Amino acid sequence: KMNTDIGQHILKNPGVAQAIVDKADLKQSDIVLEVGPGTGNLTTRILEKAKRVIAVEQDPRMAAELTKRFQATPAAKRLELILGDVIKMPELPYFDVCISNTPYQISSPLTFKLLATSPSPRSCVLMFQREFAMRLFAKPGDKLYSRLSVNAQMWAKVDHVMKVGKNNFNPPPQVESNVVRITPKTPRPQISYDEWDGLLRIAFVRKNRVLRSAFLGTSSVMDMLEANYRTFCAQNDVVLDDGPLDDAMAGGMDVDEGGEDEGWDGIMDVDDDDDVPDFFKEEADRKAKKLQDNPNRKRKGKVSELVRAKVKKVLEIETELAERRARMCDEGDFLKLLYAFNQEGIHFS
Ligand code: SAM
Repeated sequence: KMNTDIGQHILKNPGVAQAIVDKADLKQSDIVLEVGPGTGNLTTRILEKAKRVIAVEQDPRMAAELTKRFQATPAAKRLELILGDVIKMPELPYFDVCISNTPYQISSPLTFKLLATSPSPRSCVLMFQREFAMRLFAKPGDKLYSRLSVNAQMWAKVDHVMKVGKNNFNPPPQVESNVVRITPKTPRPQISYDEWDGLLRIAFVRKNRVLRSAFLGTSSVMDMLEANYRTFCAQNDVVLDDGPLDDAMAGGMDVDEGGEDEGWDGIMDVDDDDDVPDFFKEEADRKAKKLQDNPNRKRKGKVSELVRAKVKKVLEIETELAERRARMCDEGDFLKLLYAFNQEGIHFS
């Protein structure tokens, strides 16, 4: 009995299973990470071509079945089975290639995790639901363009491998699927994944907002950037004037930045990046707590005004991207932004 709540749809067409493994161009020396091996339809084919398979399976019943399948076969000692949720693993073991008939619930976090992996794997061949696959290819201005699209295109080349109809699965899922190959760029771009993704998370909370409002109009974002700026200054021996704001100045704050909803033009977001707003609140709360120990800390003091001025300068003068919406920015725009922010000592992780 399959548990479709965790994406158990077994591939029943052996031709498709073989094609997926063939498209990975495995070498005899490869270590392959397989996510969600299930009963082992792909695993057995991967073991024929690679040195070792590390299979991560969440369901103990499936894991037991997989163990039984390879027990007492010569391949058994080349298969390492990890029982658990791949997303919760703090660090993935070393692997050359990832292959997965992906449980659809984890498509997004798994893709981000694979893109963040350094050193990068040589390639990842993954089965996704069709709409998710299309998001990987989406360009600025497309309806499906999201933080996922920018990240995929920043760190990798994405190729379409094949369409797979729902009747190739047991039980059939609701929608059609596509196999894609994600080939990380070599050399890996020399920027911090956390900094880059931290910037994108802010920009894409609502991708239809103008960047000015995403940054300056969101107090949790400004609090986080201020906390990061304080850390940056402490690490670089920069002394901050931490006094309260003069009344005159304080009165002038927040006038022209617009409310949280400026730039929202009513188009629904189709992202499943909805972990994002909570992510900021949690980050800001965590950092604010840490700062409470600092007796000099004043909310909306001179330091917050300094950070605000820096952010404004980057958006309005250095990059001239203040009035752009995230949905219209490409990787080049975000790189320009990150570089300009970092020049001002503004960091995202
Ligand atoms: N590889 C098999 C095949 O192609 O027939 C099964 C693929 S099935 C779509 C997805 C598998 O991933 C299931 O066995 C499910 O139990 C497992 N799974 C679901 N969520 C997981 C997670 N978070 N971490 C690891 N495995 C997971």
